[in-house]
Amino acid sequence: MSFSKLGLSAPLLALVAKSGYTAPYPIQLAAIPAIMGSKDVLGVAQTGSGKTASFVLPILQQFQRKAPAPNRHIKALVLVPTRELAVQVAAVFTYFGAHLPRPVKTLAVFGGVSINPQMKQMGGVEILVATPGRLLDLLDNKAMQVSEIDILVLDEADKMLNLGFKEEMTRIFGLLPANRQNLLFSATLGKDIDTITEMLLRNPVKIEIAREPETLASIKQVGYHVAEERKGPLLRYLIKTQALKQVLVFTSSVHKADTVVHKLKGNGVSAVALHSQKSQGARTEALRQFKAGDIAVLVATDLASRGLDIPFLPMVINYELPRSPKDFIHRVGRTGRAGASGTAISFVTQDDVQHFRVIQKKMGAWVDMVETEGFNLHGY
Ligand code: AMP
Repeated sequence: MSFSKLGLSAPLLALVAKSGYTAPYPIQLAAIPAIMGSKDVLGVAQTGSGKTASFVLPILQQFQRKAPAPNRHIKALVLVPTRELAVQVAAVFTYFGAHLPRPVKTLAVFGGVSINPQMKQMGGVEILVATPGRLLDLLDNKAMQVSEIDILVLDEADKMLNLGFKEEMTRIFGLLPANRQNLLFSATLGKDIDTITEMLLRNPVKIEIAREPETLASIKQVGYHVAEERKGPLLRYLIKTQALKQVLVFTSSVHKADTVVHKLKGNGVSAVALHSQKSQGARTEALRQFKAGDIAVLVATDLASRGLDIPFLPMVINYELPRSPKDFIHRVGRTGRAGASGTAISFVTQDDVQHFRVIQKKMGAWVDMVETEGFNLHGY
């Protein structure tokens, strides 16, 4: 599939070719036609997935048909959590937007620097990439108007919420005209994102992109060939001999999660289960204890792990393999975040061998295997 099939105009296609993009990334394949079709979009994708171009290109294409707004009236607003992202996103808009038949001017604004130069640069700007606090300051200063906005993008929405921008975001939504297109991009889903999604998006096209294999490169992965009945002892052996702390263990069922926790506790390892049969209160408390380092092992099912927010996990163990490779990538991606290295261990029984091959193929990486038959697990 090439970019030319996505309905982008010839001048944009020429710029895409010049930029060195040869084929669209999956998020671009899905998002570009949806956005050009005026749909709201919920994109679940990480940085590195190509999400920026997935909204920049169709927005610029839409601008080719738009009449210019009165001066100091923004037509597209992109909210971002940080200065770095504001600069990065604005650079992509400018790269593609400055030389089109109908050029589009973009400006990045963010806090931590003087507001005056930003106010002075506002003339002729149609796309504003802003952090929420600074946007409100600029509006208070009447630097520009947002009454003409017909497209709103929230980029890295989860990070904006984590940074405490919820109140500012809600205030901003209230200032925008009701009739507009909304695009929300987030690396993770969760309760807060659901709230924003419900508030903002109308019948959104949902696009979910698994973490890109190459971003898993910083994670050391090992597979352990192990017989089913030796999994429990092997887990305890690994945890005890390596004095592991903050280990996230995945099982496929609620029952298995409880059994693993029970056995760990019986062997003097602090552990707690996180699954759908636990109350929200118990889940929050389990997570709090785990984050605080009060318990060494959290045993979770896939469902319960969605939206888990733990900044850095040194170790993830797949006690049982998930059925879907996507879930596997999601699990493994919980370690080695933000440049820190991590280890992901997978227990593989004889019955799992073929399935594990499929997972590795989907992941685009082969995992070193260790035979555990010779391990003396006596007493674990
Ligand atoms: P992003 O996830 O938007 O931060 O993009 C990650 C990187 O991928 C950026 O450096 C982009 O320039 C690059 N990129 C985006 N789309 C493509 C593509 N279709 N082909 C090659 N590189 C791309």
